[in-house]
Amino acid sequence: MDKVVSLCKRRGFIFPGSEIYGGLANTWDYGPYGTALKNNVKKAWWQTFVDSRDDVVGLDSAIFMNSKVWEASGHLGAFSDPLIDCKKCKERFRGDKLIEENLNLDAAIGLDLAGVTKVIKDNKIACPACKATDFTEARNFNLMFKTHQGVVEEAQTAVYLRPETAQGIFVNFKNVVNTSRKKLPFGIAQIGKAFRNEITPGNFTFRTREFEQMEIEYFFKPDDNETKTIFDKWSKDMYEWFLNLGVNKQNLRMRDHDQDELSHYSSMTQDVEYNFPFGWGELAGLAFRGKFDLTQHEKFSKQDLKYQDPITNEKFIPHVIEPSFGADRTVLTFLVEAYEEQQLEDGETRVVMHFHPKLAPIKAAILPLMKKPELTEKAREVYDILKNKFVCEYDESGHIGKRYRRQDEIGTPFCLTIDYDTLEKDNCVTVRDRDSMKQERIKIDEISDYLLLKLDK
Ligand code: ATP
Repeated sequence: MDKVVSLCKRRGFIFPGSEIYGGLANTWDYGPYGTALKNNVKKAWWQTFVDSRDDVVGLDSAIFMNSKVWEASGHLGAFSDPLIDCKKCKERFRGDKLIEENLNLDAAIGLDLAGVTKVIKDNKIACPACKATDFTEARNFNLMFKTHQGVVEEAQTAVYLRPETAQGIFVNFKNVVNTSRKKLPFGIAQIGKAFRNEITPGNFTFRTREFEQMEIEYFFKPDDNETKTIFDKWSKDMYEWFLNLGVNKQNLRMRDHDQDELSHYSSMTQDVEYNFPFGWGELAGLAFRGKFDLTQHEKFSKQDLKYQDPITNEKFIPHVIEPSFGADRTVLTFLVEAYEEQQLEDGETRVVMHFHPKLAPIKAAILPLMKKPELTEKAREVYDILKNKFVCEYDESGHIGKRYRRQDEIGTPFCLTIDYDTLEKDNCVTVRDRDSMKQERIKIDEISDYLLLKLDK
């Protein structure tokens, strides 16, 4: 992981947050290439799950919501993790994660607070910071960030930074039904920031306190026979989305939650897990939430949130299946998956990011062989032809080999080099393929179509 973190910093994918002030622990800022990569990930997700389907529509709801939302959803009461403190060094930890890391996942599942305290004590689990084995009892720690809204102090109301984007979808269910002409089954998708005051953030962008989610709530008429079919279809779609964008099958798995691992709202949950350098971790989740959320919101808001079947006029609360992706964990997955160090025949090491063309921040780099006016002028011409069709980069300074390495490290699928043969012989550019390093000469007139074909994998 250190190598990926260092490449991210070196090449402008991800920087430590507030760095010039000494940083702020576990915050990260996406740099120019990281922003492009993340935007491409979100675009690819939206394209697959919203734009190319006629049964999913989009939403962009506010981060601040009426606090009643969080009462209804159960987050105010139950969205907490078991917190324990090391009595010696005063470090704080998430008890269940400590058990999972020291014993195994099964040992951490389904424990109440007393259970967490007991397992840690009985197994003499040591503090990761100071190695002492003397912890406080586990207690609940609510993960929501609380702040206040309003300018007059006495009239301020408590508001929370949303811990998930899903609730924005539920509270707008009726609005969408009334305006979009969608009939069940249909989904509402949203991409946006979520905030959780995680006890132990870490592993680069895997667990942070501010992150982005890509979520869908897929509503359907309650039908016990259909639920599993819809669930399995989403499971397959989620899994294949990652494979289609270049994730290796061996590094991806679907894991069913045990009965006692399920959240308060779910009766069937599956995680998409990725084999990160620090071990298998949740990349995305799929949960059958039944009618829990809409029922709760109907109760707390006293509004009728039922769906009326336009043919039978039957009224009911739909069931919902939730595919939920973390945008940052997804970006991290593609970064880890893309990274390769190759030993070349000349003894040099080449670092290359094998991003899927759809995700690569830059699709083609246009490079004059040398910084000579006749070459740079021609290269600029090629750049001008391509720049409105593909995200391209023009780079004229430094040795050509170094410029290739730089493009390899940011994962640019193609480098186009303009040399004297271009000017004097064939009006072709040398196209260098990032993955195979093979080179071929392509006519400038044909380069647009060539790239279009190659990039549209
Ligand atoms: P975990 O068990 O890792 O805490 P979770 O089960 O609480 O995750 P969900 O509530 O299912 O996560 O959220 C959906 C997705 O949001 C996760 O699959 C993950 O990709 C992302 N996510 C959740 N918490 C974080 C976080 N603290 N930092 C980055 N991404 C997160």
